[in-house]
Amino acid sequence: MTRVLLLGGTGDALKIARQLTPQDIYSLAGLGRVPDDLPCAVRVGGFGGSDGLAQYLDAEGIDLLIDATHPYAAQISANALTAAQRAAVTVWALRRAPWQPRPGDDWRVVSDWRAVCKALTSFSRPLFTLGRAPLDHLDTIAAHQRWVVRCLDAHPGNAQAVVIGARGPFTHESERALFAQYEIDVVVSKNSGGAATEAKLDVARERGLPVVMLTRPEAQQGIAPERTFESGAALLAALGALRAEARVRNIQTSWRGNEV
Ligand code: NAP
Repeated sequence: MTRVLLLGGTGDALKIARQLTPQDIYSLAGLGRVPDDLPCAVRVGGFGGSDGLAQYLDAEGIDLLIDATHPYAAQISANALTAAQRAAVTVWALRRAPWQPRPGDDWRVVSDWRAVCKALTSFSRPLFTLGRAPLDHLDTIAAHQRWVVRCLDAHPGNAQAVVIGARGPFTHESERALFAQYEIDVVVSKNSGGAATEAKLDVARERGLPVVMLTRPEAQQGIAPERTFESGAALLAALGALRAEARVRNIQTSWRGNEV
């Protein structure tokens, strides 16, 4: 039987984890909630870099490593490829397609925090949806700005910043209410893709607001996953097929064994 280690921390990964078996393992960094109702084992915390992950793959007898981490979690994805190569384990990756700008969108595409700040200079009420990163910069907010920072957990803000702890999915209604409440004049976003957090882009378009879009991190050069899927459903179908093939092979092997 193919033993799976699933690297997660996203809604898509959780959906895959719900379809795993007791011998499989779902791995989380430990930043969010740890589910206690999964059919597979759950482990929490880093492995200690690619070396630690390679050792873990070996020690646990993992046959298939599935990277279903967030598109901006570049370190763990790079570690997964390096470790799997070292441990001679197959890697599959779930890579959500990025959002594409639609008619009426005004995206300002930037590649780092400095460029984010530069793109925001003429705005006064940005909504940050970049996770925790803006929290390190709350003391540097320009005098004319009031920030709204949305991340997974609530944190203290300051006189110029409100920090909202909230987990998607977000509806159009709730996004409209948030934009109106704080008089948001620009949105700052990762290009995460997927439906769960897309409503903010629709609401920005409705209100004629620009979106400062942080580009995705570069993929690891030189090594690639054996297979890449754009949806959890496609990945689960492939996993089902792989397991069915393995069952047939096992039956054939045991028949041949009986013949000897
Ligand atoms: P990262 O920079 O790529 O990873 C930092 C370190 O965290 C890794 O080197 C690894 O530690 C540990 N780690 C990350 N994911 C892990 C997992 N699933 N299981 C075990 N260890 C893991 O990741 P990040 O951007 O901080 O994100 C952390 C987690 O949050 C990821 O699992 C990701 O799927 C989830 N997440 C991230 C974002 C985002 O925007 N970055 C958004 C939503 C969810 P060791 O080197 O010690 O193994």
